[in-house]
Amino acid sequence: MKKISDYFGCMVFNDGVMKEKLAPDVYEKLKKTIDEGAKLDLNVANAVAEAMKEWAIDLGATHFTHWFQPLTGITAEKHDSFIAAAPGGRVIMEFSGKELIKGEPDASAFPSGGLRATFEARGYTAWDPTSYAFIKDNTLCIPTAFCSFGGEALDKKTPLLRSMEALNRQALRILRLFGNTTSKYVHSSSGAEQEYFLIDRRLYNRRPDLKFTGRTLFGARAPKGQELHDHYFGAIKPRVAAYMAELDEELWKLGVLAKTEHNEVAPGQHELAPIYSTTNIATDHNQLTMEVMQNVAARHGLVCLLHEKPFEGVNGSGKHNNWSIDTDDGINLLKPGASPHENAQFLLFLVAVIQAVDDYQDLLRVSVATAGNDHRLGSHEAPPAVISVYLGKELTEILESIENDSPYSGAGRREMAFGVPALPAFFGDTTDRNRTSPFAYTGNKFEFRMLGASDSIACANIMLNAAVAESLRQYADRLEKASDFKAELRDVLKQAIINHKRIIFNGNGYSKEWIEEAKRRGLSNLPATPDCLPKMLDKKNVEMLKSHGIYTEMEVRSRYEILLENYVGIVTIEAATMLDMAQRDILPAVSAYSSELCERALGKAKAGIENGYEKQTSSELSKLETEIMNGITELRKAADHAAQAQDVTEHSMRIRDKVIPAMKALRCASDKAETLMDNRRWPLPTYAQLMFGV
Ligand code: ADP
Ligand code: MG
Repeated sequence: MKKISDYFGCMVFNDGVMKEKLAPDVYEKLKKTIDEGAKLDLNVANAVAEAMKEWAIDLGATHFTHWFQPLTGITAEKHDSFIAAAPGGRVIMEFSGKELIKGEPDASAFPSGGLRATFEARGYTAWDPTSYAFIKDNTLCIPTAFCSFGGEALDKKTPLLRSMEALNRQALRILRLFGNTTSKYVHSSSGAEQEYFLIDRRLYNRRPDLKFTGRTLFGARAPKGQELHDHYFGAIKPRVAAYMAELDEELWKLGVLAKTEHNEVAPGQHELAPIYSTTNIATDHNQLTMEVMQNVAARHGLVCLLHEKPFEGVNGSGKHNNWSIDTDDGINLLKPGASPHENAQFLLFLVAVIQAVDDYQDLLRVSVATAGNDHRLGSHEAPPAVISVYLGKELTEILESIENDSPYSGAGRREMAFGVPALPAFFGDTTDRNRTSPFAYTGNKFEFRMLGASDSIACANIMLNAAVAESLRQYADRLEKASDFKAELRDVLKQAIINHKRIIFNGNGYSKEWIEEAKRRGLSNLPATPDCLPKMLDKKNVEMLKSHGIYTEMEVRSRYEILLENYVGIVTIEAATMLDMAQRDILPAVSAYSSELCERALGKAKAGIENGYEKQTSSELSKLETEIMNGITELRKAADHAAQAQDVTEHSMRIRDKVIPAMKALRCASDKAETLMDNRRWPLPTYAQLMFGV
């Protein structure tokens, strides 16, 4: 048996490798760049590149690539080999500091939302030394940011790094006010719990909808779904266990801290959770995890589905983004401390998050908006499209006591400082029992539960970091000027609680009553992607993002367009796939079977035998045939009409209002027909086969 500690991170150019392979002065300088963002000079870069190349070649690498995250939502790479021509027809292996630091993929086909006309197609990639290089498929992958020549971000990493910097800047101001002079920087951390489905590859290959869209567009429900809750945390089948074991091993080699693997609620659904790391690394690792999940599945004759809603009638897949703020010297700013002094600081950070979520509900909703996630949010399996914060009883009561200037009884006789009650000794033992909240405090972190399974966690963390940086900025502006710090702090806390307590909700987020209550509280409820994306362009949002240096106005606009185009593109492909399947797979099968039944009915009638089954079923199928035909006509009309829209905004609304309902109607007729058909005549693998077939 191989020991994990022997191979963990063996494919990563991590701190240990750097220390071993780099000269001490080079290592020190690189470390300064990684930790403090110091500029790297070319000599150091050359030395690092040389060491990286030697290390990678020893491990069998032949190529290198700048690995980046364009706005397609997946990662991109363009491979170059290390070879350079040498005299005498030989080759030598080369890799320079320049090649490490900067790349120029042509990359003109990536979405840029009008930021980059194709005649100035050159974008460039820039090394992000805060995320380690690694080897994948014999290729040295260098995590990079992707920008236009004008410097506009064309990817998800650049704004994420900017948002982390914004949070760092504002959080340090607050820490200094509380007398902390030792922490050098503050970063956000995330741990992304990843849900997925595994299905058999042979069945997958017979479903055009899964192949083209990642989800089933047709399919009657299986007799059994998740009613018995027998899959959740259930024993793992041998084939799945073998998959998980190999997945862990591959991820560990890449330095991904894969920690927990278990079965999820729906049949065929599973989850992987890593140990958290800085948001930047967590984002890279989650992208890598999704890729490795799919590659390993292929080796096991399986397909890993990361779509938010592969199957109707059972839970879809999400991604919980566990998020906290930490200092370089190991202080978790969202963890209550032991002393009242620490509590006051904790409560200020806590309130900053509450205010951020309230002020930028719409941006958080935008950050998880995709066509796929629209199927999940608000359908009683995932949080609603309304955002609220769960705090639990104790914290809520503490905030109430600050709001009302009343002592908090739970604190007993513990001291008050800054007029802020101490937390009860038992606090924190009460774990989060609320699973229906979109944004739950869980003792030392918040868990943002609205993310879709296939989405990058970058966007959610960008908005979260930005919004919290903004609350902290407002507090720091006031507190730095205050003559009486204690009194001002008390007032800042009290006002923030009064202004933002409407966002706190500790009840059942899946209930209808909550949606009504949320409306009374004035919280925003944006069910579909075309409803929420335009909010990105609201002045208050653009101003905030601009003021913290996270996006320029141009960048916000371009992202708005790209996200909407993406939504339109996805649903348009789904509609086209449905039309094709309905016309060429489903109708022929239904028609053939109903004619056959008809003939059999006639035959039986001639022979004077009962023919009830044949007669009735063929008549019902004929009616459904007509319904499917009409459904095809209506969907085609709706899709054509949508495509004639003046702009992408209009297009997306026509899709929401006309195309999606037409898709539902077509599916409904087909799913009814499926339940009447001879199993052997149905042209597609069924839900029962797909979900229970591994
Ligand atoms: P759950 O009960 O939701 O399954 P777990 O305790 O298993 O929660 O943790 C879920 C995730 O939260 C893991 O990825 C874990 O590493 C991460 N996590 C734990 N502490 C923090 C933190 N301080 N900041 C960010 N993520 C964290
Ligand atoms: Mg969780």
